[in-house]
Amino acid sequence: MILTDTHTHLYLDDFEEDREQVIKNALENGVVRMLLPNIDSTTVDDLKSMATAFPKHCYPMMGLHPTSVKDNYEKEIALVEQELTTGKYYGVGEIGIDLYWDSTFEEQQKNSFRKQLRLAKKYRLAVSVHTRNAFKFTIQIVKEELTDDLKGVFHCFTGTMEEAGQIMDAGFKMGIGGIVTFKNSGLAEVVAQLPLETLVLETDAPYLTPVPYRGKRNQSAYLLYVAQKIAEIKNIPVETVAEVTSRTAENLFFKKQ
Ligand SMILES: [Zn+2]
Repeated sequence: MILTDTHTHLYLDDFEEDREQVIKNALENGVVRMLLPNIDSTTVDDLKSMATAFPKHCYPMMGLHPTSVKDNYEKEIALVEQELTTGKYYGVGEIGIDLYWDSTFEEQQKNSFRKQLRLAKKYRLAVSVHTRNAFKFTIQIVKEELTDDLKGVFHCFTGTMEEAGQIMDAGFKMGIGGIVTFKNSGLAEVVAQLPLETLVLETDAPYLTPVPYRGKRNQSAYLLYVAQKIAEIKNIPVETVAEVTSRTAENLFFKKQ
């Protein structure tokens, strides 16, 4: 069984002590491909060293995270583009709009998101989209920028059927993570109604750890629990969940356009 973690931050300091073991754990659970989304200029070096250290398993993305968008965002995006010209990246991420913590830079966040969607089209890469308290604006900008070349994932999807409908209409996929295993999240009921072909799996490690490890540090090995939960919700074999979601991830991030 082959699982693909489409969103994991294994290059962060949380894994400094046991990074190799964390990769071993992932491989033991069938998680053989891990996509690493960037945060901002302060994380680029660690991201690149991890991708270099584990070239068969770790695949870097490049982007500026919405919560890192400040007055200097144009300079940050210039670095994103400079990195993208190297051709070493498998996606543009993570990018999007986050108005949960702070809306001071709302306009800058919207501009940053739009500029990076355009970079994704220019370099023919899929995007990993982060949205929090901002779905309306995020999907609106995706729709405005939508062309045949633009594709990607709404990472950490926790929305309604109505929002899922808008994402599917844009041809985008939904990244399902540990929250699907949380009681009362309501996500299992939504996932039950979504076609398996519209989903990819993710951990967002070290955050959002699935049951039975909820509250502890997350790692890519725990993707198995997300896959098992989706199999249970849909009453299908976990192997089918692995196969279909890995194929979708392959088509998004690994096929040269
Ligand atoms: Zn993330």
